Amino acid sequence: MISVKTAHELEKMRRACRISALALQAAGKAIEAGITTADLDKIIYDTILRHGARPNFKGLYGFPGSACISINDQVIHGIPSHGVVIRPGDIVSIDTGAAIDGFNGDNAATFACGKVDSEAQRLMDVTKESLYRGIAAAVPGNRVGDISAAVQAWVEQHGFSVVRSYVGHGVGKELHEDPEVPNFGKAGRGPRLVSGMTLAIEPMVNQGTHVVKSLSDGWTVVTADGGLSAHFEHTVAVTAGGPEILTVAEEEA
Ligand code: MG
Repeated sequence: MISVKTAHELEKMRRACRISALALQAAGKAIEAGITTADLDKIIYDTILRHGARPNFKGLYGFPGSACISINDQVIHGIPSHGVVIRPGDIVSIDTGAAIDGFNGDNAATFACGKVDSEAQRLMDVTKESLYRGIAAAVPGNRVGDISAAVQAWVEQHGFSVVRSYVGHGVGKELHEDPEVPNFGKAGRGPRLVSGMTLAIEPMVNQGTHVVKSLSDGWTVVTADGGLSAHFEHTVAVTAGGPEILTVAEEEA
């Protein structure tokens, strides 16, 4: 069932999403050569707690971290570890969220450690722009497939591929709600978008094949061909005034 939020519930969503964005921003700023993914996870955990929220990734389906941190050919669900050290030229995808007052935020971004090669930079730029193309389609009267098609078109016209096995989703009282929001598909298909829906739109984009596989740790998803992968995500509200990005990191006045 797709939940539609009241104005009051949207206010709570904004709060959870703002804290999610602050946590992601703090980790992104901390990325430097020599830091471990466990260090980044701790920064996220501390930021979320400092704002009175709960790290909603921690413990979900048994995941041990407050963030999924996935490097280079890792697509999603990398487990933070003291043994994983960020090196110059790495691209680091961080996915995290916070819950407060019964509502959830969810966001992700891929960050560069120092200077990365030009194809890695292009992959990040195209993935980020594909997210904004998808967000622009999140308007009342459109369908989920309009978001999917907008993301896919941008990615494929730049020669990259969209991950098929994992998709975006509704978000609200639960971190993962209906509907599924694939990053591939046909315009005009899927559930109709109405004002008050809140969606996590999250293109995962690979340099080479869209095919992925899971590592033996039971969590980490990597590209099947060893190519790079990038991931950008916002939680977005569908409103009569257009899409509203909820995961923005402005400090409260
Ligand atoms: Mg998500």
